[in-house]
Amino acid sequence: MGNPHILVVPFPAQGHAIPLMELSQILIKHGIKITFVNTEFNHKRITNALGKEPEGQVRLVSIPDGIGAEGNRNHLGKFTEACWKFMPGELKQLIEKINQTDDDEITCVLADMTMGLGVEVAAELGIKRAALWPAATLLLALILNIPKLIDDGVIDENGTPLKHEMIRLSPDTLTMNPSNFMWATIEDFTTQKIILDCMQKNNIAIEKAEWLLCNSTYNLEAGAFALVPKALPIGPLSELDILGNLEVNFWAEDGSCLKWLNLQPPRSVIYVAFGSFTILNPTQFQELALGLELSNKPFLWVVRPDIIEGKDDAYPEGFHNRVADRGRMVGWAPQRVVLSHPSIACFISHCGWNSTMEGLSNGVPFLCWPYFGDQFLNESYICDIWKVGLKFEKDESEIIRGEEIKSKVEKLLSDENFKARALELKEKTIDNIKEGGSSEQNLKSFIEWVKS
Ligand code: UDP
Repeated sequence: MGNPHILVVPFPAQGHAIPLMELSQILIKHGIKITFVNTEFNHKRITNALGKEPEGQVRLVSIPDGIGAEGNRNHLGKFTEACWKFMPGELKQLIEKINQTDDDEITCVLADMTMGLGVEVAAELGIKRAALWPAATLLLALILNIPKLIDDGVIDENGTPLKHEMIRLSPDTLTMNPSNFMWATIEDFTTQKIILDCMQKNNIAIEKAEWLLCNSTYNLEAGAFALVPKALPIGPLSELDILGNLEVNFWAEDGSCLKWLNLQPPRSVIYVAFGSFTILNPTQFQELALGLELSNKPFLWVVRPDIIEGKDDAYPEGFHNRVADRGRMVGWAPQRVVLSHPSIACFISHCGWNSTMEGLSNGVPFLCWPYFGDQFLNESYICDIWKVGLKFEKDESEIIRGEEIKSKVEKLLSDENFKARALELKEKTIDNIKEGGSSEQNLKSFIEWVKS
């Protein structure tokens, strides 16, 4: 009998590849062989960003996503549909090929929980299967409750909210505005419906998973874990190996900002990053630049090459000269390391779940700028429940103005309670991955099962 060999199947997006790779890196250290499946399209992006073929211990392979060279991968609905149609066949072929050529057959599939199709393929082939949920566990509970939400008349069968009052799934979870439900924030109706249907299909598929792992912790989400008893926290994943080279970046990482951070005073720098999807319109981009300028503090700002809607550049005139001695812009930062740097004072964030966990695990207070999907839910955790951040207010034209940015930065940084709570939450959260912590114990049991 060969060694345990896991096929890891992320949803093809940056915020999904990262936590699955973080977990892969840990499993490798426990002597488990990993083959990590990207789409061909993303594999090219990763090698372009690295400037070479990845050469880490995790073996990267790729399969087509069924979209074709010219297809539109930004249409979330069509993209998800294509994944469900094409990937099961591709995955089966891949497993057969590996099993014929590799000394160690695939013994387990670890799928992103949004890729229940990977779980189904493993079940069909009679191999072990587990799934990792890369977002808040409360979102998982919400999605598993879609049939009940429809029965209760909270949403219709297309996912459109019918009730406009706040709801909660249990007395121990936060209240949610149905119009901020993840699928309802996707503007176009067809996409919303496709996504809702795929989620329901996925709910059935993941019933076949033997393990449901979550990048979260009991102290952060006790109420949500009570609603999904099978789900087990193993987070915060980013802290298990913060310096590990993940080799799944879609953009070239600019590590030079770490040297720049070394030169800044402790707790002085505003870190600004919106993850991998968010796009700002030129006016909003300009107001953000003005806000950073007005705040009169050092800042490190991730300006992804594709972040401005329809344009390459929307900086206010003379901006670069005026902030030259205290502002630093990069295309893609080593975010996990940046957030652990003592110079960081606060995090202006779109509140993606990975960013949320990474900020929390480093005791960094937040200024929240959610954009779509689950980001409103995460904002609510940060500001209303954990109280480690503040929300920005938009004006009547739906723009967050420079003055608002300046004033919230001042408010957050002048109130020591935010930092104190953030540090307390960091300690409690990190304790979970220490020897004997609940995440550590869950991960240990999972590894034993993989090896058994
Ligand atoms: N990230 C990074 N460098 C950047 C911006 C983001 O490494 O300059 C990483 C970040 O650490 C996180 C991921 O990209 O792990 C973004 O995931 P998140 O869930 O926050 O947002 P999404 O991109 O899915 O909207």
